[in-house]
Amino acid sequence: MLHYLAFALAFALAVPIMANAGQYKDFRFPREASTTKDGYPTPLSGKPITKTPVIVKKKGVSLKKYPEHYIPGKEPLADNEMRVTVLGSGSPTPVRRAQATSGYLVELGNGDNFIFDIGPGTPANLYSMGVHPALLDKLFIAHLHLDHTGGIFGLFDAMGWARNTPLQVWGPSGTTPELGTAEFTRNIRKAAEWHVQSKRNLLPTGGTTIVTHEVDISKFSPENPRQLVYDKNGVKIYAFPVVHTIDGSMGYRLEWNGLSFAYTADSEPSTFEAEQCRAADVFIHEVFPLPDEYAAQTKMPLQHAKNALAQHTSPEELGLVFNLARPGIGIGSHYTLGDALVDSFFKGVLTTYDGPVMLAHDLSVINVTLEQIVIRQAKTSFLAEVPDAPELEGVDMNPGKRSDSKRPDWLTETKIQK
Ligand SMILES: [Zn+2]
Ligand SMILES: [Zn+2]
Repeated sequence: MLHYLAFALAFALAVPIMANAGQYKDFRFPREASTTKDGYPTPLSGKPITKTPVIVKKKGVSLKKYPEHYIPGKEPLADNEMRVTVLGSGSPTPVRRAQATSGYLVELGNGDNFIFDIGPGTPANLYSMGVHPALLDKLFIAHLHLDHTGGIFGLFDAMGWARNTPLQVWGPSGTTPELGTAEFTRNIRKAAEWHVQSKRNLLPTGGTTIVTHEVDISKFSPENPRQLVYDKNGVKIYAFPVVHTIDGSMGYRLEWNGLSFAYTADSEPSTFEAEQCRAADVFIHEVFPLPDEYAAQTKMPLQHAKNALAQHTSPEELGLVFNLARPGIGIGSHYTLGDALVDSFFKGVLTTYDGPVMLAHDLSVINVTLEQIVIRQAKTSFLAEVPDAPELEGVDMNPGKRSDSKRPDWLTETKIQK
């Protein structure tokens, strides 16, 4: 009898698993397509959170048609096209399964890729996007808060085996050396010493190094509001200061082929940042819920929430910034998703702004051309595989010197013979 029950139970369990086997190939959005009370797509239902998923920039021309979802590896970019992917849309209070913290991937039709911030949780989203890790070697850090940098080990580790050239990191200098990006990356590399020495004969040595390009923040002034920090293959990236806690927080603006991407990470609203981001195709700016919503959501005292939010941007203030900058699409990010909070976000922004707005969601994908801006959700595999390795020049898989650190013989001798 017991045997029979066990068999019946196993069979009952096995059938649904077998029937659903194909389901694990692609991500199925966990919610059915639905809308909030005010008619915005609900989070996790496979649609970007905006009422303007298609924005026509040039009228009267034939427009490229896109599939309903972006599926990595299935849509090569056109020569003159830019794709921006939200890798992390949340905040660190705390990181959620559906929302990693800050991180954005910008892919260009010329084959270049750029990562802006690498918050905790973003590496898994990054590697689900079908770009080989060896091509993900340019990281631009806006400021050194951990919700913008905490995923750096995941980036460093996944690249190590794939390349013999360093991870390149751009970031602010800080007012003293210990507050700067060079000190940060030096410490990251130092913390990885056991990791690197233990893999000396497995990794190309170049992949275990970090090269830092520190942006000297003392050079910013009203006369010198931005610095050109990257200029290659027709891609220009500018850094500019933003108002966020102590000195050393920056935003970036990328220009390529008549297309532009602007990102201010965390910042209080200012006319200066609006000026730096003016008319960008894609402008990503932080936004936080209102104090009572934030206190309820984080379970922190209301006064504490008010103090925290005094240093951030409310939906209504975000609308003021967008109204000055007039971007192609204004994107609020660093926000906690939830049906009621989605409606509250739009209610606030739309009191001060009447242009196209989106609330960022992990794996929102924005395609930009001279003719249009199209926003979708990516459908990525939970079991994403690494795409074919690109042919890279100068890859040298020769091992470096293995560490002299050796396990004690008595421990090694207990190994079971294979
Ligand atoms: Zn911050
Ligand atoms: Zn932040």
